[in-house]
Formats: sequence, C-alpha cells, structure tokens
Amino acid sequence: MTREQSYNLAFEKQKQVLRYKKATFDVAMQNLKDSNPDFAKINSRLSFLGAQIATIAISGDTKSLKKLQDEMTELSAARDVILKSASIGDIVYDCDACQDTGYINGKICDCIHNAAKKIRLNDLSSSLPLDSCRFENFDLNYYKNEDIDGANPRKRMTSILKLCREYVINFNPKTSESLLFMGDTGLGKTHLTLSITYELLNGGFDVIYGAAYNLFSDMETEHFERHTNTKYNAAINCDLLVIDDLGGEFVSPYIQSLLYNIINTRDLGGKPTIINTNLSMGELANKYTPRVASRLIKYTAKKFIGNDIRQLKALQK
Ligand SMILES: [Zn+2]
Repeated sequence: MTREQSYNLAFEKQKQVLRYKKATFDVAMQNLKDSNPDFAKINSRLSFLGAQIATIAISGDTKSLKKLQDEMTELSAARDVILKSASIGDIVYDCDACQDTGYINGKICDCIHNAAKKIRLNDLSSSLPLDSCRFENFDLNYYKNEDIDGANPRKRMTSILKLCREYVINFNPKTSESLLFMGDTGLGKTHLTLSITYELLNGGFDVIYGAAYNLFSDMETEHFERHTNTKYNAAINCDLLVIDDLGGEFVSPYIQSLLYNIINTRDLGGKPTIINTNLSMGELANKYTPRVASRLIKYTAKKFIGNDIRQLKALQK
C-alpha cells in the first residue's frame, strides 16, 4: 500500500464515521420534534430569531436587537433542558482539534497522519511478520562467538545490529546511505530490514517494503494490464525503499530495466534504498546487468554470517 492510498483510506474512514454520527443525531432530533410539539416550536422560533438578529444587527436598532437576543438566550436554555432530558448531546468528535474534518487551517490534522500510519502498518503486518521482527527481539545468541573462517559471527552481527539502529535514529530521506545486506538465507536480513521498516513507518516516514518477486510482478501487472504505474511511482518517490530477496525472482528483460530505473532514479535523487540478497556481487552482475551492479557497488555492503537461524530455532523445538 502506498502512502497516498493510506491517506485516502484514513480520510474516507473518518468521513464515514462522521456521516454516521450526524445521521444518528439528525434522526434523534427529528424523533424529538415529532414527539414533542413544544420542542418543535422552540426550534423553529430559534431559526427565525437567528435570521432576524442578523438583519437587525445591520440596521443598528440596538433596542430591538437586545430584545431578540434575550429571547434567544431564554429559548436556547429551554431547548437545552429538553435535549438533556431526552439524552441527546452534541456530536462527540473523535478529534476535537479538527472536529473530524481531517484538516486544521488547510493542513492535514495529526489524527489523519496517525490513522494513515496505522493503516499502513496493519497492511504490512497482514503479509509480513512485522510484529515479531523488531530490534528488541533480534537475538545475537544465535550467532557463534568464535572465529569461523577468520570472522566472528557474533561480533559481525553485533556491529550490523548497531548500524541498523543508528540508521533509524539518524534517518534522513535525502542523505541516508543505501545499504546492501548480503549473505545466506536465515541469517536475519529480513528481520533487521523489517525492524527498520517498522521503526521508520512508525516515525511517519514513507517506506515501501517488498520481496523483489512481489514488487516487480505487481509493477509489471499494473503497467501492462491496468496501464498505471502507481506502485512504480511509489517505489521511486518513497523515503525508503526496501527490496527483500533480490535475486529470488524470475528476471525478464522488463524487470531488468525496471530494477535499473528504480535504483538509478533513487540514486540520482539522493534517496536511500536497502536491498537484501542471497547472491554475491558477481552473481548479481550476471543475473541483472553490469549497469545494475555498477549502482549497487555504491551501496554500503554488509555480509551477514553465521548459521541458519530458522534451522537453529527448529532444532530447539
Ligand atoms: Zn483531527
């Protein structure tokens, strides 16, 4: 789901709720008017007084104005008593700040920003383990604290975890670096990139996350079948694009150029991208094009090492 779609949905939901509240209020008022003739009379007199006061205020007849205003105050009080006894209160807004209009002085209210954020997080959670993949539960104990082929997995992963946490804290959609996470399956690449995604989405940034095969096939379908490029444009323009499992998808010439256009356009605009891959740089250059590889070389690359955590977890059960 794109940022735009989440905002459209947030506004639509707010409108629906407000429409329901107003309709319920109107029905209760009408029922009261039907069952209580005094109340109906008071209401129509109040409408009349409102119009009269507006006219007389312009003419400057202060004596008549005062008389009408006094009557209005008195009738309003009587009306309030009847409303209270019928348990009809004013419409209670979910957001007092914007009275559920979604805007304050032409600017989008925080209630909409928060609702849109929640909608996006929920949408992502529905297809990915966003709730279980957090920094807090990234367990370094799964990585051996001993040298294997000249490198210590625990130390390596401790420094990568630190880098990811700092990446979130210092995130800037115009200046943050692009990252390339390499290494075999089951070493925590998805976990850490989902942690980054959760934190940044929660912080109000526009993050698009997707496995390469989903992202690209969705864009291909949109382009050729629906003749729109909503997902492509969102991937180009978002604050952070995360492509998981690059290399795991079937690569057509169209996807090759799609990938190049996306990473090149983001690169030129100074926008960060994070890519997870099981492939080496040489394999990436082979699978895609040297042009793609020439862009990926600029990324800060980190090699994940250790034992397959999914296997280790399965053995524990
Ligand atoms: Zn609001």
